[in-house]
Amino acid sequence: MAESIIRFEKVNKWYGNNFHVLRDIDLNVARGEKIVICGPSGSGKSTLIRCINRLEEHQEGRLVVDGVELSDDVKAVDEVRKKVGMVFQQFNLFPHLTVLDNLTLSPMWVGKLPRKEAVEKAMQQLERVRIADQAGKYPLQLSGGQQQRVAIARALCLTPKIMLFDEPTSALDPEMIKEVLDVMIELADQGITMLCVTHEMGFAKAVADCVIFMDEGQIVESSPPHEFFNNPKSERSRDFLSKIL
Ligand code: ADP
Ligand code: MG
Repeated sequence: MAESIIRFEKVNKWYGNNFHVLRDIDLNVARGEKIVICGPSGSGKSTLIRCINRLEEHQEGRLVVDGVELSDDVKAVDEVRKKVGMVFQQFNLFPHLTVLDNLTLSPMWVGKLPRKEAVEKAMQQLERVRIADQAGKYPLQLSGGQQQRVAIARALCLTPKIMLFDEPTSALDPEMIKEVLDVMIELADQGITMLCVTHEMGFAKAVADCVIFMDEGQIVESSPPHEFFNNPKSERSRDFLSKIL
């Protein structure tokens, strides 16, 4: 069996005292695996992936990322965050910094990289998402699709082993979705471990090793894409698919 890079063991999480948002999550992600997570709004998809870089804390169970168990230990959290890049629906770029400065900020200040090296690395990543010619612009001078590609390049500047995407194309106009998905597909082909919350089922079919369907805080189904789409196991996944396809 391939080694897991992410392991959830009976993970439970509540918001406040009463709202049980993640229920007995068991999940093993192999190194290099591509996982697509789908499910109705409010089912806990964002919460699940945000636990992986400790943007959210779980209260019960174990969550181990590349050999490091997440806990209150700040060192463990820092260590995990170095391994995990994240891309959000709303890009989250710094509007007052140029594209280039958005990319060099964290490598210089957190990673202690000299400016020259940070710039070199940033330009490489901008090439990779085909937007190097926009390096001197400010985020709001770019289209949504370009901004999201900058956000992907920024995450890649920290050389993550794992990339998390939370509905990366949901805020984009339809004509820009493809340019972002194309970049993600290329990235997937390069062997990085990827977890992506998305309802882009074409993307799921193209890259996912496994599709996870969540509902009400539970993983209801976890199947290879052809099974999930052609022969979903549960009533709830069938119902969900009938609404989005
Ligand atoms: P999804 O990404 O599947 O739409 P989320 O993980 O964002 O679901 O949210 C799951 C549930 O938890 C929703 O009902 C949401 O309203 C609730 N929730 C999300 N974040 C918080 C929070 N910080 N505090 C309290 N409730 C939250
Ligand atoms: Mg969400």
